[in-house]
This record gives sequence, structure tokens and C-alpha cells, in this order.
Amino acid sequence: MSDFDVQKKQIVDTAQALVRKGYLMATGGNISLRIPNRNAFAITPSNYDYFKMTPDDVCILDFEMKKTEGHLKPSVESAMHGAIYQARPDVNAIVHTHQAYVSALTLIKMPIPALFDEQARFLGRSVDIIPYAPSGTGMLKNTVAKHVKNHNNAFMMQNHGALVFGHDMERAVHNVEILEKCALAYLLAICSEKKISKIPLAIREIAFAKLRGDQKKIEQGERVTSGE
Ligand SMILES: [Zn+2]
Repeated sequence: MSDFDVQKKQIVDTAQALVRKGYLMATGGNISLRIPNRNAFAITPSNYDYFKMTPDDVCILDFEMKKTEGHLKPSVESAMHGAIYQARPDVNAIVHTHQAYVSALTLIKMPIPALFDEQARFLGRSVDIIPYAPSGTGMLKNTVAKHVKNHNNAFMMQNHGALVFGHDMERAVHNVEILEKCALAYLLAICSEKKISKIPLAIREIAFAKLRGDQKKIEQGERVTSGE
């Protein structure tokens, strides 16, 4: 038994749901949840089959990367997750995947501009490319920590995959799905070689202002609903 059984179970359930939906493959990717008021987070173990994973396999780390619970090695990207929680007080759940269409865009280094209303409302003004750094390095952690300060909730890591945030796990999973839909639509549009239309700038800014409004409430400890 652990004080964090609820968070650990939510991580395992989410990971398995994301494998079933095709966003996580093999042992790739990692998922974490902030532990409220503890300067700590729960994260998936490194290189471990999601369908063998049980809540006991999930690690608890503090922001100094000290493991306080878990018998397995934590994800190699743990320091990146810790840096994001410290840089973004509005973020309580992080999902990193190697989902296919986002991965394709990371190879051609094409950021996704504001194409759809719900994209701007939940993912932010654009989905930017975070420049390449090798997995599990301090260089990647530092590069990511710098980029996430623009308050967007989805990023593409060059030659790697997707990085998606939510104020809770449900929102983070919805954002993973919105991102993949945007990536696929954008790739198909690019392939047409026609001019790609974006949503009007004013609409993008209104949608982003709503997202920032939610984030500020969460930073102040208020609850927000995932709707609209
Ligand atoms: Zn990865």
C-alpha cells in the first residue's frame, strides 16, 4: 500500500488505454502525474511492458530525482518531467508518446500553426518543434524546460515524438488525441501542395486567452472543468 495508489493506478490505466488506441507502442513513451503539495510526481518505469505494468511498478520521485517509491528504474525522461512540473505550475499530467503522425512532422521540423478552433483552445497558439537532444540527457531536459514556458500544452520533439500536458490526466489524454488529429490533417494538407488556411488570428487569440484563463485558475489552486 502507498499514499499514492490512486495516482499509480491512473498512470497504468492511462498507459494501457493509450497502447490500445495506438498512441503508445512497445515500451516507448512515458507518463507522469504531479503529486499535489509534495514537490513530487509519479512516473512510469523505464523500458517496461505496459500490459505487465501494475500500480506497484510506478515510481514516485521528488524534484531532486530521488526515488521514494518503486522497485524499478524510473523512466529515463524523469528529469524532463520534473523540470516541466517546476516550470509550469498549471501542469498536473504529462504524456510523452512516439505517436505516428506527430513523429512524421518532427522529421520535417514543421511546427503546426493554429489550424482548428479546439487546437488553439486546448493546445495553444501553435505546436512548436523542440530542437533535437538525445533522450535522457540534461541537454534535452534544459531545452524542453525553456520551450514550455510559452504556455502551450503540446510540443513536438525533433526526431523523437510528442510531449503533451493537461491540468489532469483526462485532459492530457484528450490533448494527445487532438494533437494527432491536427498532425494527420496538416501532413495531408502539406502533401496536397496547396495553400494551407489557418484560423483567423483574432479567433486564435480568443481561444488562447481562454486556455490561459484556465491555467491561471489552476496556478492559484482553483478547479476547472474539462468542457467546452
Ligand atoms: Zn521518447
